[in-house]
Amino acid sequence: MAGEETQHTGSYYAATANPAPERPALKGDAVCDICVIGAGFSGISAALHLAEKGHKVIVLEAVKVAFGASGRNGGQIINGYSRDYDTIKSRYGEDTARALLDMSFEGGDIIRARIEKYGIECDLKKGSFFAAFNDRQMKDLERRREVWAMAGHKDVEMLDKSGIPKVVDTDLYTGGMLDNKGGHIHPMNLVLGQAAALESLGGKIYEHSRVARIEHGAKPAAVTAQGKVTCNHLVICGNAYLGETVPELSARFMSVSSQIVTTEVLGAELTDKMMPGDNCLEDCNFLLDYYRITGDKRLLFGGGVVYSGSTPTDIENRLVPHIHRTFPHLKGKKIDFAWSGNFALTLTRMPHIGRLADNVWFIQGDSGHGVTPCHLLGRLTAEAIDNQQSRWDVFAKMKNYPFPGGRMFRVPLTAMGAWYYGMREKLGI
Ligand SMILES: Cc1cc2nc3c(=O)[nH]c(=O)nc-3n(C[C@H](O)[C@H](O)[C@H](O)COP(=O)(O)OP(=O)(O)OC[C@H]3O[C@@H](n4cnc5c(N)ncnc54)[C@H](O)[C@@H]3O)c2cc1C
Repeated sequence: MAGEETQHTGSYYAATANPAPERPALKGDAVCDICVIGAGFSGISAALHLAEKGHKVIVLEAVKVAFGASGRNGGQIINGYSRDYDTIKSRYGEDTARALLDMSFEGGDIIRARIEKYGIECDLKKGSFFAAFNDRQMKDLERRREVWAMAGHKDVEMLDKSGIPKVVDTDLYTGGMLDNKGGHIHPMNLVLGQAAALESLGGKIYEHSRVARIEHGAKPAAVTAQGKVTCNHLVICGNAYLGETVPELSARFMSVSSQIVTTEVLGAELTDKMMPGDNCLEDCNFLLDYYRITGDKRLLFGGGVVYSGSTPTDIENRLVPHIHRTFPHLKGKKIDFAWSGNFALTLTRMPHIGRLADNVWFIQGDSGHGVTPCHLLGRLTAEAIDNQQSRWDVFAKMKNYPFPGGRMFRVPLTAMGAWYYGMREKLGI
């Protein structure tokens, strides 16, 4: 939860963020059409879509714009969801699977369109690579290629071992799939740019304004320590940092942390050899590594999860062995930044959107892949508020369940499940 913190965590992103104004805390009463809680990808995406349609929007952020996962993540523009087409089809039926598939490239399109429209400087690069360690993972990627082709997306390249040097200079992988509709960005700068765009359209953002409670009614309200916003519609986007503000929402996800480090600046000569296409990469393991080169030519490397959502004290020790396994020649290079961030894991691993009342909406549960879905879900929520509900319905009707074990046991139970899958991968079964 955002708790008592008042500034961004000490990440590479915060250190290289574009200039942004200090935004005031909410003081006193305010009235608007739509009040959004949380200034991450979900909240700012929804707010900007709504402002573009002419609504008067206020965003309340507990700490700072992009304080949460959106200002801390790997920056990888990954198409699709945390569950594949066949799993979604077997759970929710073919129509839902197909509708979700048809929307799965839209989040990336929104990001690129906004970068272009609002001139956002966020180091946008093209191409995300899914790296396979074995034939089973290659088979899954081949299936993903087939499924994406069904939806008209064919701009992907399947690479065998001999093709890997095109993407990355390491011996680790047997092959993979390069998605040319994916890519990577400096995520904090993407949020900050969209926040500025929102303000240019008359939207208002208050920082240091944690919502302590919400009030239901014909005109719902969000109440902070020093003020209150009354509105026609409330959109809750606090995700893993929501804490217990809305207990009926936090029961449906578990806060999980993932860690990232960046090396010292390595220089273009070295990084062009390490990742010649300047693509981002995530491997296909259950507990995956993900990495890319930053705009200023460092290696940014993430991995690992902590199921309680806590921040480990030994981030560097956890990740550096993975870096050396991937790029042995980086031994001796300094780590300049190490940080942790929390995402909201759902039991189904699918995003969780819906409403608590006719005029109280929520977006949460990215389950670790949210850069593109959060942008899409912001748009769908804006559409639904404007009475175009059919696309929002596709997501909202997917049931999401509370974690088994309640508050006390949900962390150990989920960690045990993850351990089991991690072990199977290590044993190759
Ligand atoms: C380390 C890490 C790496 C990741 N890497 C990737 C990646 O490479 N690609 C990818 O697709 N996904 C990635 N993800 C997931 C992705 O970052 C998230 O899906 C996405 O950022 C979630 O956005 P959000 O707006 O829903 O939540 P957040 O960005 O967490 O925003 C929620 C905001 O709400 C605020 N808030 C909470 N409660 C309140 C309250 N009561 N009042 C006011 N404000 C409140 C918080 O302060 C916060 O700013 C990663 C996540 C992590 C943690």
